[in-house]
Amino acid sequence: MAITALEDGTDGDQDEPDLADDLDALVSAVRRREQRRLRRLKFGSLAEVMCDLCGRTLPARLVSAAHIKRRADATRRERLNLDNIMAACLFGCDALFEHGHVVLDAAGTIRLNPAVQGELLAAARHLAGRRCGAYNPRSRSFFEAHARRFVPERLDQRWQAEWDVAADTAAVKRYSEPERGRSSAVS
Ligand SMILES: [Zn+2]
Repeated sequence: MAITALEDGTDGDQDEPDLADDLDALVSAVRRREQRRLRRLKFGSLAEVMCDLCGRTLPARLVSAAHIKRRADATRRERLNLDNIMAACLFGCDALFEHGHVVLDAAGTIRLNPAVQGELLAAARHLAGRRCGAYNPRSRSFFEAHARRFVPERLDQRWQAEWDVAADTAAVKRYSEPERGRSSAVS
């Protein structure tokens, strides 16, 4: 017995990580199945889908059926609610929204998270000020939950439409200033 344990280098302690791996695999499988189902219900058999954030129409395989209220924060019922699903492309929009680098204001306009700067700002700024295609009275509460999760300091109790647009404009301007400086030096 002792020799066997030495030979394969295992002992009882390693059962726990194995179990955790199995659970991870199970969770992944459940999520993939859920994603397939939501995609089928949301996109049907469309070959091309328009991204609700950037507005680009892309092959469906490059567009994700993304949760608006974070999956981790949503109840099972909310996770399966199609009003909580939007089309978000894999050219940045899906990740930018998932991690709260962009949020919606109460008027359905995309806003930059004030913490966004540098290359992240360069990747997100084309979304600022766009109207989100998935915003409507039924999805509104999910967008509010998403914004509250990531920029609670920007929101009052009623999730006012008022947003400091000047801050977004200033952030984008700050980022593009070096470029302008260069071009004016050339001319
Ligand atoms: Zn997009």
